[in-house]
Amino acid sequence: MATTVSKVAAVQILDSRSRPTLATTITLSDGTVARAGVPSGASTGSREAVEIRDGDPSRFSGAGVLEAAAHVNGEINEALAGRTFANLEELDQTLIDLDATTNKSRLGANAIVGVSIAASRAFAASQGQQLWEYLQPTGVKARLPVPHFNVVNGGVHAPNNLDFQEFMVAPIGAPSIAEAVRAGSEVYAKLKGILAGKGFATGLGDEGGFAPQIDRPEDVLALLVHAIEEAGYRPGRDGVAIALDPASSEFYREGSYQVAGESLSSTEMINRYEEIISAYPVWLLEDGLAESDWQGWEQLTARLGDRVELVGDDILCTNPVIIREAISRHVGNAALIKVNQIGTVSETLEAMRICRDAGWAQFVSHRSGETEDTFIADLAVGAGCGHLKSGAPARGERVAKYNRLIEIETASTLAYGLVT
Ligand code: PGA
Ligand code: ZN
Repeated sequence: MATTVSKVAAVQILDSRSRPTLATTITLSDGTVARAGVPSGASTGSREAVEIRDGDPSRFSGAGVLEAAAHVNGEINEALAGRTFANLEELDQTLIDLDATTNKSRLGANAIVGVSIAASRAFAASQGQQLWEYLQPTGVKARLPVPHFNVVNGGVHAPNNLDFQEFMVAPIGAPSIAEAVRAGSEVYAKLKGILAGKGFATGLGDEGGFAPQIDRPEDVLALLVHAIEEAGYRPGRDGVAIALDPASSEFYREGSYQVAGESLSSTEMINRYEEIISAYPVWLLEDGLAESDWQGWEQLTARLGDRVELVGDDILCTNPVIIREAISRHVGNAALIKVNQIGTVSETLEAMRICRDAGWAQFVSHRSGETEDTFIADLAVGAGCGHLKSGAPARGERVAKYNRLIEIETASTLAYGLVT
């Protein structure tokens, strides 16, 4: 169905970390109005699409996005207003052509992605469809994804000594989203009690997980298993499993991995992961090795690829070209999917299609800097990829996505769980 755009606009707002970001609005000629909030990362891949920051040190320490907003209100609005589009791909292609760089650095990926997300929402509403239905590719079965709750934060997301960035609990064995959210919340509450009982601070990191002063990742994993059991669940795939995102590019220095005071080669790091997955119910490992360590990744995949899901985030950047290369080199077996890493919804769906066709999993993700926008919940459902991460079961910008999944579950007959 062809759709005519009347206007696009953007304004500078704050994200969950008190950094400026964009709220983008699109108006269609049929009166439909839709909005998007633009996410922003902290442990970013070097090949991500480029978000534009003003760089004026007297305002928000240079992090303002007034220039990106001006691009939406000016050049992008001029290019879209009054134009009729056959579908979202056509609108996204117009944005890509207008920017005319390979990494969206002229207009800004933050400017472009807000327009693309808002447009997908508007097109869905204009056609009387739920957003997840609109995003669902032909021939793909929609499903409710297993939520991955990030309950302990380290790395660049928290001011503690923990080198690994994210420790997630995943209620794979739950019968529904509602029960999975309950499990996440109950484990989170038990973990808080356990941490407090041991004298650790229970302050939160950027994604709502606790940020205790613990050095060794294994010590955190032991606490997680304890919390899962105390909450009354079985640790593992038939109950509540664990997922890790060490975000290892952040502790990779001069060819070695700096973890809890040790300096490890790629092979030693893989040995460490092998011990970890043998001792704890870890089912997924994201960015286990650094984005520049492709040889290490080949070894990691050969050694552990049939035991755990190996997700590439910084190394792949939701980029169809890089994902194709990784598939052909047997680097990982799954891609993290972040819309703002590539910059449009259409390219994101393309990245997911490439993964699907290769038998790769797709793990939809929020960013550490978020708004209350719930787009990724619908994306994960429509693309039928079976799992999503949106931080802790706490803080409004994180739970908004999980709550949206509960709404979708209530209004549909979709199945819950991993793609098997
Ligand atoms: P970021 O981290 O949003 O800060 O980049 C999330 C992740 O590494 O998965
Ligand atoms: Zn990551």
